[in-house]
Amino acid sequence: MIAIPSMSFQIHNTLSRRKEEFRSLQPGIVRMYNCGPTVYSRAHIGNMRTFLLADLLRRWLELSGYEVRQVMNITDVGHLTDDDAGEGEDKIEAQARREKRDPWEISRGYTELFLSDLAKLSFVPPLVHPRASEHVPEMLEMIEGLIAKGHAYRVGDDVYFDVKSFPRYGALSGNRVAELEAGARIAVREEKRNPEDFALWKSDPAHLMKWKSVFGEHGFPGWHIECSAMSRKHLGEQLDIHTGGEDNIFPHHECEIAQSEAFTGKTFARYWMHARFLQVDGGKMSKRLGNCYSLDDVVAKGYEPRHLRYCLIRGHYRQPLNFTWGILEECRSALESLDDFVRRLRVAAAAGGPARGEELVAAARASFDAAMDDDLNTPSALAAVFALRGATLEDRLGPQAAHAALGFLERVHAALGVLRLEQQNLDQQVEGLIRARLAARKAKDFAAADRLRGELVALGIALEDTPRGVLWKRADGTGGGPIQ
Ligand code: AMP
Ligand code: ZN
Repeated sequence: MIAIPSMSFQIHNTLSRRKEEFRSLQPGIVRMYNCGPTVYSRAHIGNMRTFLLADLLRRWLELSGYEVRQVMNITDVGHLTDDDAGEGEDKIEAQARREKRDPWEISRGYTELFLSDLAKLSFVPPLVHPRASEHVPEMLEMIEGLIAKGHAYRVGDDVYFDVKSFPRYGALSGNRVAELEAGARIAVREEKRNPEDFALWKSDPAHLMKWKSVFGEHGFPGWHIECSAMSRKHLGEQLDIHTGGEDNIFPHHECEIAQSEAFTGKTFARYWMHARFLQVDGGKMSKRLGNCYSLDDVVAKGYEPRHLRYCLIRGHYRQPLNFTWGILEECRSALESLDDFVRRLRVAAAAGGPARGEELVAAARASFDAAMDDDLNTPSALAAVFALRGATLEDRLGPQAAHAALGFLERVHAALGVLRLEQQNLDQQVEGLIRARLAARKAKDFAAADRLRGELVALGIALEDTPRGVLWKRADGTGGGPIQ
């Protein structure tokens, strides 16, 4: 069966600066490229906000019926410390010197940590995580092609892109070449044609990660050409969606567009989406302030990765978002209240009773979908889930409606990845004790029932008697469900 993609998905396109209805180039298939991390340090929770935009898109497009070809690269060479000016040191080599280690070892180690963080945070794995260092021939092919077409030129063994050869340079960021020049914030190298021309290839005998090419013995690629070459290799010349953080708009994405479009003569990406920066304690995250928290810091304080995930998607990706430990604690409570909701729904779904409440579930599902279709409005989507929970707390759902609500929560989980839906099995000893207590209560032997409850509490199991049956719950919040 061919799924018909939803036709109402609206996304905000940085290029047009407005919301547009999403349409893929090829019916039913989405090609999406996400700028990935530079693996010179542990990804922090701000980086994760940007990567979550990619994961949310992936999930929502798939739920809407598309096949999503998703690529998220790993930058393991060529990202300079002063990337605005295209100057400075390679971030990975600088870190290698600080740690007195081999740069390849640095990038391998942080790549592994990054991939393991993504798995812990329930990211749906992309088709591929291409490494820049494994795509140098593809980059050189583009660089040589750009020279042949008159868009790039050599200065000694370096190669620069001539921004004045590409009139649309500045269309994404709104920067005008003339204004950039007037700002003169770019270190001017005499031999460059224009001060804002950026490097496609750099030569440096002292660089440890280096390649031989027609430009000389010791060279390495510029950061921007990496993404142009990797996206072309894995997704072809034209993308549907390209994502990154707000700081990637300029220069990184502006330069990617110039390189790719000058090389292919085609529109590179149709929709550009950028996540706003996460703040911590109301301010900028910085190494100096020691607030570049990683997933490990969150877990070390006793939180689950999904608590952080929730914390990062509770705000809309284009709005400012703040992180504090207090907010994370509130996120934990919010998710626990949803775990509790799931347990109650399981009881209601298994119990008898008249049909009622179907319309509440249908309304929640409609507002959830409408919110996600509206440029991934996750706060409104979550509000729809909490509204359903609020409206149905007093057992206002019949068995069918409770069943439908559980189905709706499965959809919510497929879209957001934060709920706990799996039914946890009780071990036999615990189940035996619960059943023995039920039997004691039936026989009105309340002393025995209380003693059995005490034994269960000692095993870390809390019980709640509801009109429809007994709910059990582990004291540590993991799992729970009904016993009939
Ligand atoms: P980097 O590893 O430095 O290349 O950063 C990886 C991604 O994280 C980039 O797309 C950045 O735009 C993004 N990023 C960096 N800092 C933050 C932040 N505080 N909040 C959200 N995204 C960020
Ligand atoms: Zn990129």
